[in-house]
Amino acid sequence: MDYKIRISPPHMGGEELKYIKEALATNWVASSGRHISDFEKDLESYLGGQRYVAALSSGTAAIHLALILAGVQRDDEVICQSLTFAASAFPIVYQGAKPIFVDSEQDTWNLCPSVLEETIQDRLLKGKKPKAIIVVHIFGMPAKMDEIKTVSKKYNIPLIEDAAEALGSSYKGHKCGCLGDFGILSFNGNKIITTSGGGALICKEAKQKDRAIFLATQAKDEALWYAHSTVGYNYRMSNIAAGIGRGQMEALSVYSEKRRENHLFYKNLFEPFDYIQVFSETNAEQYANHWLTCIQFSPNKANKSAMGLLHALGQQGIESKPIWKPMHLQPLFKGCPYYGDKVAETIFKTGLSLPSGYNLNKEDREYIHNGVKNYLNH
Ligand SMILES: *Cc1c(COP(=O)(O)O)cnc(C)c1O
Repeated sequence: MDYKIRISPPHMGGEELKYIKEALATNWVASSGRHISDFEKDLESYLGGQRYVAALSSGTAAIHLALILAGVQRDDEVICQSLTFAASAFPIVYQGAKPIFVDSEQDTWNLCPSVLEETIQDRLLKGKKPKAIIVVHIFGMPAKMDEIKTVSKKYNIPLIEDAAEALGSSYKGHKCGCLGDFGILSFNGNKIITTSGGGALICKEAKQKDRAIFLATQAKDEALWYAHSTVGYNYRMSNIAAGIGRGQMEALSVYSEKRRENHLFYKNLFEPFDYIQVFSETNAEQYANHWLTCIQFSPNKANKSAMGLLHALGQQGIESKPIWKPMHLQPLFKGCPYYGDKVAETIFKTGLSLPSGYNLNKEDREYIHNGVKNYLNH
């Protein structure tokens, strides 16, 4: 369908073209070149200078390499937040490991720390210690990281932070992506910034970054000929993509500010409707980029629902989307253990994400305002 207003279109705002032209003019167009290391430096300094960043071909590739660096192997168990986009969990399968899905809590919609601990205890009882934990900052909302880190430390299980949607978000003043043992970012077309397609792995140690780049460039041993002693991947970001990333980084603060303005717009818009909650921070420790603004419906006399609003908006050319369908409800993951109750499932059934792009202008907002009111007031 050709929408008039799309949910999260890409936007070129900085000097992307200059950097692309530079890459072409110097003939550095592939998987090496100055833009790649400069883009990594941009990210490292943005993240506070305490982490090492490897630029990769996608966020999914970054999760895969994080699992490898965390030591995940065939038949191992990996704990993953159930309420997420499938790319958080796919790399567990690439490794031949087994996903164990865990429910969310209602405040942040992310991994519930107490269910996480119950899960680990039960897996230990069943005879296997999980090899890694994947926590997500869904829609850019920071998870309860202190509590989650306490559990990860107590049982000594590496924590991988999927910050694909959370570039620009922070928790207690620390940037999302730098709170776990590994972090990952995505620069897919719909994310906060884009490199046309790309991602990054965030590491604590320089040697982990080096190892990630080694694996991402086909694991070539040092030798005159092509020598390989381990499996490699073609996961490195191209110099052209990194050039786009450098331009995008110049506009990052503007991008996240604009998304937060969109969120305020929706808060005002839904204020009169007590059966609709706009998904928001619940305390001052969280700073969300509000990548996508989401709402949740409670049961109501007016008989209004998330899917009702989705259809009504769709008829007017406004794109909205259901919340990620939890992984434990996906046919692919049928039979995988799941711990928790129905928090994620309820959010999925009653939630909706709304147009939240950088490009939303005054007229777009008026159009959305009218579209929403048309449905809710009739
Ligand atoms: C987008 C996304 C990914 C995957 O990133 P790609 O760059 O598209 O591979 C992983 N996890 C979450 C939560 C995402 O939203």
